Parts: sequence; C-alpha cells; structure tokens
Amino acid sequence: MTLLLKDVTKRFGKHTAVDQLSLEIPESEMFGFLGGNGAGKTTTFRMILGLLDSTSGDITWNGEPINYDKSHLIGYLPEERGLYPKLKVREQIIYLGRLRGMKKNDIVTELEGWLERFKVPEYMDKKVEELSKGNQQKIQFISAVIHRPKLLILDEPFSGLDPINVEMLKQAVLDIKAQGTSIVFSSHQMEHVEELCEHLCILQKGKPVVYGALGEIKRSFGKKNLIIHADIPLEFLRDYPGVLHLKKVTAGCELQIENEAVSQGIFAALQGKGFIRKFDLAEPSLNDIFIEKVGAAYE
Ligand code: ATP
Repeated sequence: MTLLLKDVTKRFGKHTAVDQLSLEIPESEMFGFLGGNGAGKTTTFRMILGLLDSTSGDITWNGEPINYDKSHLIGYLPEERGLYPKLKVREQIIYLGRLRGMKKNDIVTELEGWLERFKVPEYMDKKVEELSKGNQQKIQFISAVIHRPKLLILDEPFSGLDPINVEMLKQAVLDIKAQGTSIVFSSHQMEHVEELCEHLCILQKGKPVVYGALGEIKRSFGKKNLIIHADIPLEFLRDYPGVLHLKKVTAGCELQIENEAVSQGIFAALQGKGFIRKFDLAEPSLNDIFIEKVGAAYE
C-alpha cells in the first residue's frame, strides 16, 4: 500500500504551487510534510485525495489512481476545519460514517470508544457549536478516523490544541499507525515532525529542498550542536576556529560547529579553566536544518 507521487506539478495560472514533486510513502509509515506558508502542502494533499487535478505527473496508491471508490479507505483532516455547528456530535459522526459506508451501530460503538479515549464522553449529545475550537478539532479528528482508514492525511492536526490535547492526539495517531495505517501530516511545528516521523519532506515554493529519512537527513547535514554548561566565561569560543554560531544560555552556551572534530579541540581548550557540568555533542535539530535550507522564507 505505497503512496507514490511522481513528478507531480500543479499550476494555478502562471503560478506553480507544486513543482515536479516525487515522493514515496510506504505502508504503516508516518510521513511529515514541512514548509513555510504557501509552500504547497495543502495543494499536494488535495491532489493526493483527488480533490484537485494535478497539471502533470502521477499519483498512485498501491499502483492504482486514487478515486471515489477508495474514499472508505482514506481519512482526511482538512486545514480549514468545519463541522455542522447545529448538529450534535453523535448525529454529525453518524452522518459522516454513513457516507463512508459504515453501519450506524458500528459508528456509535467506535465513537464511544474515541470520546472515552479523549476523556469527553459527555460530548456525545452536545451540539458542535457548544464545544471550544480545540474540542471541535478533536471531534473532526474522530470524523477523519471513524472508518479506520488505511491512508490518513492530516493537515496541521496539532495547531490550536493545548499541550495535553496535543499529547492525546499524538498517542492516537501513533496507535493508528501501529494498526497499519499510513499517515501523512503537515505541520509548522518541527518538534512534532521530529518526534513522530521516520521520513519527511521540506517543501519550498513547491519543490522539495529536503527529503528522506530523518536520521539520514540529520547525519548528512554534517554540522553539530555542542552544548556546554560551565562556571567559566565561554564567550571566547565565539572566535574559536570551526565555531559557526554561539548562543548564550543561562547555564553556559550552545554552539553550532562545523564538524565533530571541532568539539575535541574545544574540549582540550576548556581543560583546567574551571568546572564543566555538561559537555554534550548533539545532532542538529530539524529546526536548524529547516532554517538553513529554507532560511528567511519561513515565518
Ligand atoms: P500554509 O502553510 O499557509 O497552509 P501550504 O503549504 O498549505 O501553506 P498551499 O495552500 O498549498 O500552501 O498553497 C500553495 C500556493 O498555491 C500558494 O501560493 C497559494 O496562493 C496557491 N494556491 C493554492 N490554492 C490556489 C487556488 N485554488 N487558486 C490559486 N492559487 C492557489
């Protein structure tokens, strides 16, 4: 059940929103889609779902095009949230579940399970408009997964949620993945992608500027972060050969260095100067990589 995008391009008039994008998303995989505003994430999702025709290129899932007869296998949480405000949660989800070909009893059982899990069983008979925005989002998430899709597309699933709800949703997404669903999600928050995804793509102006396995991407980035906590002045390291950037923090400093070897020189240079509490060579964060690759274009 691999999702395959091959040279996919979407033009709106003269504007190219997605430019020759090729991706492979294997089964049971969580794939992260990053990119600044207007990078082309939502447009890509709409093309995958068949809501928008690509200008050129192919999108297949398990070797076949995605069309209407696969809608019971696909779940989608759109970026523009929208439920029927006057309907009760129960009515709303039954309606959407029926559209996916489910039986009413099965829908209710599944819904009860989800509301229980999200610790809001009392929402069953509340009108959607009575719920806060974040809680409406949980309901909309349930509507996207009620039919246990095999492919789940989530556009900014964590935006607007408090930390407790973010955690709850993350766990839910991980469980769905463990049951064999492929999940593609977009986010502006790098830490979510870093935590959840094996593979990712960073889009800029419709083109992938970074694509691959998270670990590989980090290794190939080369540069490292060096965290030093010490009771001695560290400011002199700003001019140390191989140090690209120094950020002061309360307990010491965080450096970006050219490569691992630089850290050993710094380690030697600090000897005998005073007490060192922490000396930690770390992989670059996805945030570092994003900023370097996409730069000021990211808001
Ligand atoms: P965001 O993070 O802000 O949601 P995004 O990565 O999802 O951004 P898209 O919504 O895919 O970006 O938009 C990509 C580009 O395509 C933008 O420049 C946008 O203005 C343009 N675009 C999207 N939909 C249309 C449309 N229906 N007609 C014309 N231009 C469009």
